Amino acid sequence: MILTLNAGSSSLKFSVFDLSAGEEEIANGIVERIGSAEGRATLEIGGERQQVDFQGDHSVAVQAIGLFLRKQKLLAKVKAVGHRVVHGGETFQQPTRITTEVEQTIERLSPLAPLHNPVNLQGIQLAKATLPNVPHVAVFDTAFHSTMLAQAFRYPVPNAWYTKHGVRKYGFHGTSHAYVSTIAKDVLTKVEKKSSKIITLHLGNGCSAAAVIDGKCIDTTMGLTPLEGLMMGTRSGDVDPGLAAYMSSLGMSIDAYDKALNKESGLLGIAAENDMRTLLSMREEGSDLARLAIAMFVYRLRKAVGSFAAAMGGIDALVFTAGIGENASDIRAEVCEDLTFLGIELVAELNAIRSDTPRIISKGTCSVLVVPTNEELQIARATAGVIK
Ligand code: ADP
Repeated sequence: MILTLNAGSSSLKFSVFDLSAGEEEIANGIVERIGSAEGRATLEIGGERQQVDFQGDHSVAVQAIGLFLRKQKLLAKVKAVGHRVVHGGETFQQPTRITTEVEQTIERLSPLAPLHNPVNLQGIQLAKATLPNVPHVAVFDTAFHSTMLAQAFRYPVPNAWYTKHGVRKYGFHGTSHAYVSTIAKDVLTKVEKKSSKIITLHLGNGCSAAAVIDGKCIDTTMGLTPLEGLMMGTRSGDVDPGLAAYMSSLGMSIDAYDKALNKESGLLGIAAENDMRTLLSMREEGSDLARLAIAMFVYRLRKAVGSFAAAMGGIDALVFTAGIGENASDIRAEVCEDLTFLGIELVAELNAIRSDTPRIISKGTCSVLVVPTNEELQIARATAGVIK
């Protein structure tokens, strides 16, 4: 069995997979609001879910997960632990077995992902203390994008920024883009449809697109940081790079600017609401700001689809995933509207179906799919691949 761990700043998610038995997820859970008085742990096994209050830090959370797994007689069966690590820089292009040197490099890369890498590393160190005798593997969010060519990943800024400071596009959500593009390829191959050139749209609170040719990522919308690219729940995505100097000239500090673009922009910035479900209801009820926010969100997505189709010289499949991509049929329809010139033709009845299974929802030459993402399973698969 493989245990996967995803350590965030205030949450810790885990899953246990039995990869020998049809990739079954045996147990999963999340400890949320770590460090606050309202901490909560949700644990699920055999279809039964329990919620308990939780108080403590990440170390107590890892211990609690260890205790739960021991009680369920799963801990001793764990053969390896797969850890989500956000930033692998240029060093880690593959899932990697964790050694002291690997830990040091993850730490060295922390300036590129200050909110994530340190806490990912803490998760690794705590899990190693709980499970010292099994291999631990790091699976990097950036790794799937490491196949981008320099023409895609370099920014047109002074060369030394890259050579001295690593300033380039890295991309994120790679585990999800890898998973859904693989599933889409499998689904399309079964029905003898083309699947060479795929655009994946991961639309959750964070949003990113990737252009994938024959399983290899050639471009993605997120960049040096997860702020670049598409409009998101609270992140702006692309803005004029000159905006920083302009806001600075008005007296705004770089910290306030960074916070505004990361936490107070995107859908939230326009309509004072970042949850797409709520925004769709607000639009229904006549809110002009919700209408504008959604129109901007969709317009920017359509431009990303168009630019990646041009970059790839065509498109065989468009894949929607994550909270918005999997559930918001209206958004899918609006993104795909009038894209027949790309061979994209949604079938309204198929688009309206709600289901947890990967499915094709189009009839044109470019297949449109909804593929529920499963980053945990992808991490478990990658981990198993490293230890075998
Ligand atoms: P995260 O990036 O935090 O993992 P998710 O992938 O869970 O986020 O996506 C969260 C987004 O998905 C929110 O904007 C939420 O409103 C949206 N979402 C979830 N379910 C639906 C739905 N049924 N209709 C529209 N949007 C939805």
